[in-house]
Amino acid sequence: MCGAEVKDPYVNLCPKCGGLLTVKMDLSEVSEMNPEDLRKTQIGVWRYAPFMPVDPAHKVSIQEGGTPLYKTEALGAEVGVPNAYVKFEGLNPTGSFKDRGMTIGVSHAKELGAKIVGCASTGNTSAALSAYASKAGMKCAVFLPSGKVAMGKLAQALFFGAKVLSVDGNFDDALALARKMSEEKKLYLLNSINPYRPEGQKSVLFEIWDQLGFKMPDRVILPVGNAANIWAVYKACMELKEIGWIDKIPKLTGIQAAGASPVAKAFEEGAMDFVPEGNPETVATAIRIGNPVSGKKALKAIYDTKGYATTVTDEEIIKAQLLLGRKEGVCVEPASAASVAGLKKLREQGVIDKDETVACICTGNGLKDPDTILANVPKPIPCQNSVKDVERILSEN
Ligand SMILES: *Cc1c(COP(=O)(O)O)cnc(C)c1O
Repeated sequence: MCGAEVKDPYVNLCPKCGGLLTVKMDLSEVSEMNPEDLRKTQIGVWRYAPFMPVDPAHKVSIQEGGTPLYKTEALGAEVGVPNAYVKFEGLNPTGSFKDRGMTIGVSHAKELGAKIVGCASTGNTSAALSAYASKAGMKCAVFLPSGKVAMGKLAQALFFGAKVLSVDGNFDDALALARKMSEEKKLYLLNSINPYRPEGQKSVLFEIWDQLGFKMPDRVILPVGNAANIWAVYKACMELKEIGWIDKIPKLTGIQAAGASPVAKAFEEGAMDFVPEGNPETVATAIRIGNPVSGKKALKAIYDTKGYATTVTDEEIIKAQLLLGRKEGVCVEPASAASVAGLKKLREQGVIDKDETVACICTGNGLKDPDTILANVPKPIPCQNSVKDVERILSEN
């Protein structure tokens, strides 16, 4: 954030300071509108097009966003926060919030005339990009480190027809190769350093506010991995405030897994920047990140909104995942359950007041990672082919 301007779309980092690029939105048009005007179009990312840096004429969409905001009363009663909500991002087209960023990122790629898009990722980013590339009729390259491939999410990338490249090296090598391809203008890079993706991801905050009747919750809780999402939510708040549509900014609260928690540790120490961690480990693979690309921006978002950051253990994550399933009929992936685990923990510690309205963003669908679910639930019950045996089983607790 040194103030330098960059025009070349194939440049990924600031040539002056080496930092991430950010899109500066011109909000003069939207400031003439009022929030009700937005509701003339279907809910979803593109309802908020005036806040997006892409001309809708180039729209590449699979109807992302418009996900439910559940008032989770049973969960709220259990954790002692009656006004708890869950924003279920697992109901996006490819099953995670990454679709919100990809519809804008790939639309921008189309605007630029890009024929090939790519990213290095083993998870939801590659699943989302491959789907949007299909929809746009673009070639897609997904760079994966050889031998370190999470099969569940990989299946989506292969299914959508991406060129899935197993790169000789680790994740950093795969990313470096993808970046090199981008710098040589051979593909348009849609990794987390891309500044257009957070623009689309702002829409999750717009929707929560819209679904609550143009009111902000007191707090928004998110899992934090590479930290682009919490930054996007912060940017959305700032833009709504800039045009005078809101006064109240929700306290942005980031939750990390105990084994991958550079941002939460920096927050505990009151530091403005974080120290990268060498060997991140957690069951919540989508947030198993030791050197978050937007970690510093996340800290700014948290401090500026008087928010909070903390860690939860894998055990707390799995418990929260099951709690959501058993109390609310909602199946999220472990990373997403971190937000609910954080709600519970911070209420117990008194950081969250019982009267707060809290929205937990549950980022991805539980079906992405069935192995983790099956490892934590009972086995199917053997049953004879008889009514009596079924009755016996059902009468047990
Ligand atoms: C990407 C992802 C996250 C982490 O989001 P960041 O923007 O990297 O902090 C959390 N949960 C799921 C399911 C994800 O796919």
